[in-house]
Amino acid sequence: MKEIILIKNGEIALKGLNRGNFESILIKNINKQIEKLGRFKISKSQSTIYIEPIDNNINIDIVLDKLKDIFGIATLCKAFAIEKNFENIKQYSITKFDEIFRNISSFRVDAKRADKTFPMLSTEIESKIGEHILNKYKNISVNLKNPDIHLTVEIRERFAYIYCGKIEGAKGMPVGSSGHGMLMLSGGIDSPVAGYMMAKRGLQISAIHFIAPPYTSDKAEEKVKELALKLSKYTNTIAYYSINFTEIQLAIKKYCDENLFTIIMRRIMIIISEKIAISNNINCLISGESLAQVASQTLLAISCTNEIANMPIFRPLIGMDKLEIIDIAKKIDTFETSILPYEDCCTIFTPKHPKTKPDITSVKINESKFDFMPIIEKAILSVKLEMISNY
Ligand code: ATP
Ligand code: MG
Repeated sequence: MKEIILIKNGEIALKGLNRGNFESILIKNINKQIEKLGRFKISKSQSTIYIEPIDNNINIDIVLDKLKDIFGIATLCKAFAIEKNFENIKQYSITKFDEIFRNISSFRVDAKRADKTFPMLSTEIESKIGEHILNKYKNISVNLKNPDIHLTVEIRERFAYIYCGKIEGAKGMPVGSSGHGMLMLSGGIDSPVAGYMMAKRGLQISAIHFIAPPYTSDKAEEKVKELALKLSKYTNTIAYYSINFTEIQLAIKKYCDENLFTIIMRRIMIIISEKIAISNNINCLISGESLAQVASQTLLAISCTNEIANMPIFRPLIGMDKLEIIDIAKKIDTFETSILPYEDCCTIFTPKHPKTKPDITSVKINESKFDFMPIIEKAILSVKLEMISNY
């Protein structure tokens, strides 16, 4: 008897001819997350991926725990690979799931026979195993339509697999299967959640963060890297780009109207983020904006910010309210880090009366009061890159 893990693909299972590509990306992501835990044989058949430990000392529950955060997996479960004979199947159907059968009121048995040479038909296996379970547990019944649990027996080439119950996976699409996005990552609550949500739709995530030393401290940046590290649990390795933004912020403060400060700053962040994105083969930006959350996120403010962009900016939080965002931040364990009280470059020069209804003409007039391009180029040259990953 051997413990293995079965994974059921999520949305990938609905893909047509491309399904193989999605599955290969998912298997590569799985491999990266679990290879440190030991050696495994990973194989696939239809919409199931089989993970068999090769080493003897592997703790399957730790592996399951890692796998449940990988996007692209709908459900997963521990299965037992046993020798293919009926007595064996009968015995394990009880010994391995005794605890489960004591705590449910209905079940059904599903048998799948990939090995057609097995001497019993699927229907026969189902009814005989069902009978055996009913004889042992007097308080449960068979319910074919809506059972509390399914006990599944798969007769495959080498072994019979037997499993019961399932763990919900992270769902979504495998990271990397939808392309590559540049997350504009601040130290706040919202942007890590935005990165998580787009990774769930299959984007590989890189992150860009703007710092303004000496107005922002090293500690503030450490906090952002910690957020990237926590996020990398879901996204694989994150390429983290850090940009020195001080000179630009000082110039905006000096030459532009105070009430447009945040909008102009955000537009320049987008110019820089796009340039770094293009030179790294990244095709979209991701931000944590949410409509009406603050003055710079009103419809007209977002219109002005967006006007400078050439690539799509994904704003997955746009229609969510703060409490919903916080719930996700807590679930992905970024919340406690996000609320640490360090300054962000956005907050240090915040105008007293930001314009909630800015118009693009006055934004452009203000931007033309100073030639920002040379200091933008300089900031881009200041970029520092660090690879952040949890494995
Ligand atoms: P967050 O909680 O993500 O900081 P917020 O509600 O505080 O968001 P803002 O500070 O207005 O909103 O920022 C809006 C978005 O702009 C952020 O979600 C983030 O995507 C981007 N952003 C803000 N500050 C930075 C920064 N220092 N570096 C990179 N991106 C930033
Ligand atoms: Mg912020």
